[in-house]
Amino acid sequence: RRAEFAAMRDLPAVTKDGVRIELMVNAGLRDDMAALDVTGADGVGLFRTEFQFLVSATLPARERQQRLYREVLDAAGDRPVIFRTVDIGGDKALPYLNGGRADEDEENPALGWRAIRLGLERDGLMKVQARALLEAAAGRTLNVMFPMVSEPWEFEEARTLFEAQRKWIHGRNRPTPIHVRYGTMLEVPALAESLDMILPQLDFLSIGTNDLTQFLFAADRANPKLAERYDWLSPAILRFVNRVVRQSLDQRVPVGVCGEMGGRALEAMALIGLGIDRLSITPAAIGPVKAMIRSLDAGALRALMPDLLTRPLRSMRDDLTAWAAQEGV
Ligand code: PEP
Ligand code: MG
Repeated sequence: RRAEFAAMRDLPAVTKDGVRIELMVNAGLRDDMAALDVTGADGVGLFRTEFQFLVSATLPARERQQRLYREVLDAAGDRPVIFRTVDIGGDKALPYLNGGRADEDEENPALGWRAIRLGLERDGLMKVQARALLEAAAGRTLNVMFPMVSEPWEFEEARTLFEAQRKWIHGRNRPTPIHVRYGTMLEVPALAESLDMILPQLDFLSIGTNDLTQFLFAADRANPKLAERYDWLSPAILRFVNRVVRQSLDQRVPVGVCGEMGGRALEAMALIGLGIDRLSITPAAIGPVKAMIRSLDAGALRALMPDLLTRPLRSMRDDLTAWAAQEGV
């Protein structure tokens, strides 16, 4: 079906009943940006800035970071890019972070000193990245997203740090972005319990289903023995996402999904059924997911979902597969 997917490149991701789905790609390197033109995606919904840090032998200097971010924005043109601040630490420990000394081994690195936790404590690192992003996006819109936020204050501190950098640059009469939009990943379940408190501060929310699944099921995402054990179409995940989507849309905060779950056609269908209208996925999945979207009646599925969510099943995979087959999705 390769040719069929390629032929859809320039067709919009619209369901049969006219619901426009924003289809974005996940990226992390300058070369990944070619995927935008190849797939016809609407933008980059997750740019993992830690890739540059991970492939580097030393801490990337501000100029190098800035150059990458500017090249990424140039390649994207009018299409939006959401930059996620570095998600390093834990299992992605950088030997150069502690003045050459490797971080102490952590017993549970995925639950460890990583991402925004490290970023707010090592705020020198975060300030450098903030300046690099703000200067790279001068005269344009900058979309920033913070990883592993567990409580609203972490988001607020990170945003305050960015705003202080923005004032600093502005105070030196240098150009700043026209607009800065701040969002957070929802990948730590605890954040869902404070959602009403954080939503008024957010320009957008992005559900990271990779870590969310790991933390919701207490199941290591890197452990092959557990890889098949829990289904993304389990009631726990879908009900969780459903609540987050309802609350976010009630407060008019755009909400999307940027984990691998959205890159599988049936899973993406279920997410759209829950009200999600933006997905950021691996480039290779754009074709199959767009084909699904263009054959879907979103209204019919959305009407069916409340009932499906109350069925005490182990997984909704069979029900959703049967429905898709019957509807010709
Ligand atoms: C996620 O956790 O779902 C996510 C998108 O981020 P990463 O895979 O980089 O942890
Ligand atoms: Mg994650």
